[in-house]
Amino acid sequence: MNAPLTERPPSNFDLDRIRAQFPILAEPVRGGRLAYLDNAATTQKPDAVLAAIDHYYRHQNSNVHRAVHDLAERATTAYEGARDRIARWFNTQREEIVFTRGTTEAINLVAYSFLRPRLQPGDEVLLTGMEHHSNIVPWQLVAKEKGAKIVAAPVLDDGSLDFDGWLARLNERTKFIAVVHISNSLGTVNPVEQMIAAARARGIPVLVDGAQSVAHLAVDFPALGADFFTCSAHKAYGPTGFGCLVAKREHLDAMPPWHGGGDMIRTVSFEESTWNEAPYRFEAGTPDMAGAVGFAAALDWIESVGLQAIAAHEHQLLVEGTALLAEVPGLRMIGTAKNKGGVMSFVMTAGHAQDIGTILDQYGVAVRTGHHCTMPLMTRFGVPATVRASLAVYNNRDDIEQLAMALRKASRLLA
Ligand code: PLP
Repeated sequence: MNAPLTERPPSNFDLDRIRAQFPILAEPVRGGRLAYLDNAATTQKPDAVLAAIDHYYRHQNSNVHRAVHDLAERATTAYEGARDRIARWFNTQREEIVFTRGTTEAINLVAYSFLRPRLQPGDEVLLTGMEHHSNIVPWQLVAKEKGAKIVAAPVLDDGSLDFDGWLARLNERTKFIAVVHISNSLGTVNPVEQMIAAARARGIPVLVDGAQSVAHLAVDFPALGADFFTCSAHKAYGPTGFGCLVAKREHLDAMPPWHGGGDMIRTVSFEESTWNEAPYRFEAGTPDMAGAVGFAAALDWIESVGLQAIAAHEHQLLVEGTALLAEVPGLRMIGTAKNKGGVMSFVMTAGHAQDIGTILDQYGVAVRTGHHCTMPLMTRFGVPATVRASLAVYNNRDDIEQLAMALRKASRLLA
């Protein structure tokens, strides 16, 4: 299902042409060249996505599902057309795509609508030690309320999951499993296929947090076999504040609404209301139509480049970047798993991550510093924070050389 990570990008992979499609990459920062290496936080947007959003507002904008006029029809067609496009991306049906504000909202939806009614005192929700706060706190909130427990499987020293440790924590009390597909802090690609197989053998539902994987790995939802998959458009060259929950239809059909409002109802009276069918039951209020259109355009754009080519290019850059960083004095990489996406997370003896990030910024290098919304993982590695450089398809050799150069300067300045 996934691109073999040792493959090289195809010979027709034209990086300059790709870069030229991202206007912001030409934006001077601190008076110089931008090396944008904060892609795990959010990616930049290609012309095709900007144009699709612009086109929507210029030619299609109205509210969806409600009016009979021409513009309302255009808006509805654009919005529901995006659902078809996104469903095709995951090789699934449109009824299995619920639009959300992103991964965080999608996970909260599952926690409140799916898990909460099923959870009993003493039950367990099994996570891993490398989850993003978005894939911890929603489960914690419902578990606390129900007297259930959060269990986290250990992470090995190289940043990979202790799979045996994870298996050992599966038991008759485990009522739900949630796992990050690619760790935003370490880049570790988790063995979700094996985890899902083990969970299915025990009848335990699984949610895969795909926030970091959707722009890097192909996901065939039925073949993956997960019950739920979540993603955010903005991490896949699409707009911010939009994403989706991909969910098995049998689950969605059985799940109660979680937000009330317009569009999610069939009938309303002051005594009682009845609910619309899934996925609309979970999309209360006026949705983000331009977000849906932008996400669909982003997926078209990714497809036009080719996910295999993207994965191969990023892997090649990861290998080269890791080698360059290994030469920086006092730098220690956190997360060296064999199966790893385009994330380089590290600490330096020269100083705190925050100080390093501030110096990198002076040289036009945009990275993320901090706990990356994975505080338990930072505790596991005994560090308060890391510097994280994360890759996207438009990054090139110049970007990682600029990073390595600026790190050397930081190392000298802080010494
Ligand atoms: N999960 C992971 C692994 C992430 O990296 C992120 C964002 O950084 C999230 C969840 C939350 O995504 P969003 O803020 O788009 O809802």
